[in-house]
Amino acid sequence: MRTAPTILHLDMDAFFASAEQAAKPSLRGKAVVVGGLGPRGVVATCSYEARVFGVHSAMPMAQARRLAPNAAYLVPRFGLYREISEQVMGLLRELSPLVEPLSLDEAFVDLEAGRTAWDEASARLTAGKLRADIRAVTGLTGSVGLAASKMLAKIASEQAKPDGLVLIEPGTERALLAPMSVRILPGVGPATGDHLRRGGISTVGEIAEAGEDELVRLLGKAHGGSLYAMALARDERPVVAERDTKSVSVEDTYDVDIHDRVRVRTEVQRLADRCVQRLRGAHLSGRTIVLKVRRYDFSTLTRSETLRGPTDDAAVVREAAARLLESVDTTGGVRLLGVGVSGLADYTQEDLFAQARVAAAEELQQAGGAAGAGAGAGSSGAGQEEAAEVVAEEPEPVVERQWRAGHDVRHAEFGHGWVQGSGLGRVTVRFETPGSGPGRVRTFRSDDSALEVAEPLPLVGRVPAVRGEG
Ligand SMILES: [Mg+2]
Repeated sequence: MRTAPTILHLDMDAFFASAEQAAKPSLRGKAVVVGGLGPRGVVATCSYEARVFGVHSAMPMAQARRLAPNAAYLVPRFGLYREISEQVMGLLRELSPLVEPLSLDEAFVDLEAGRTAWDEASARLTAGKLRADIRAVTGLTGSVGLAASKMLAKIASEQAKPDGLVLIEPGTERALLAPMSVRILPGVGPATGDHLRRGGISTVGEIAEAGEDELVRLLGKAHGGSLYAMALARDERPVVAERDTKSVSVEDTYDVDIHDRVRVRTEVQRLADRCVQRLRGAHLSGRTIVLKVRRYDFSTLTRSETLRGPTDDAAVVREAAARLLESVDTTGGVRLLGVGVSGLADYTQEDLFAQARVAAAEELQQAGGAAGAGAGAGSSGAGQEEAAEVVAEEPEPVVERQWRAGHDVRHAEFGHGWVQGSGLGRVTVRFETPGSGPGRVRTFRSDDSALEVAEPLPLVGRVPAVRGEG
């Protein structure tokens, strides 16, 4: 393991909610909840003001509404978040060629590989400048962790929240981890946590004391062994540079959770066929087959398999998707399935070796408590990749025309604003912009011809806006 804290983990603070607060002056300092607003909606992100009421990511929206009835409830605007994300990732890539995004607002950076840090002092300096640059370019804040390993860098950024920087000095890791809950370790979700507690282990220090044999006895060879190593702060996982993220994918959300394993398999085959149709329609082929499964508890797993060469063969994609499904535990029920192909090539090639897997990169990540449950249960084999996300990017049912809560509109007379609410033939709009003060509310008929959907405005204008919160 390296001896300098040159692995950086960046995590934007309450990303979607902060972006909405920056875009909508009247919401600054207020409880804001972003997520699916339909009957099956889940909280994607909420502002720190909403967390005070106990609202958190991956919580069913109905529960959030009971806890914080007066919060602003908004549908995610992924287009805007992606734009901001690209700005942030661009700043990270200036620091190193080794940037590993985990989601839109989170990434590891190997500063040593970029020669932008080599010891504690240079790492602190680089991270401080990065935080200032992110704020200047996006208007938003991010928290940074610095450590000698990925696991510790992520723990550090969590401790730094919100709007902070924490550096874990190499050599102090074990003492720091010892009193912490086992849940802090990657791959320990509620289920594994309970299992360990029944075995008399609730802190990281107790894992280290119990010894490797006991961990293997409790959790099996692979999982027990890797948890024991992490409890000793041994984490040699390298920062892996971003791969080709362009993909073609299809997914379906089910009204009722699917429990029947045979039905799940059939659905995956059907999705694989549809995905290949779309791929062929675009005259593309791809090397990496991706399976996405959102389970009954809202945890979402993606697993992927990289073939030796690009394919657009339905049989090959079906087989790969079926293999990936074998490694996912679906016993509790499945609410969404998706199949995608990435690593695209803009040509088609019949590939005889397509079924041979070559990529052996394996990564097990955890995002949020709900996702952690699965990360512990399903171990990933060589050539597969697992990542968890808690963002629910599902289309909301359109109730009336296209007035979605939180989305931007323009009125011929009153200018730029956003939809505060709609229903019963009415739409309420608040007229304000990132650079304005809190704006006024007006209500229109939902078929008012002077009102149209608008693109989001940039959060940071040419003239820096003065903001009252961090
Ligand atoms: Mg974040």
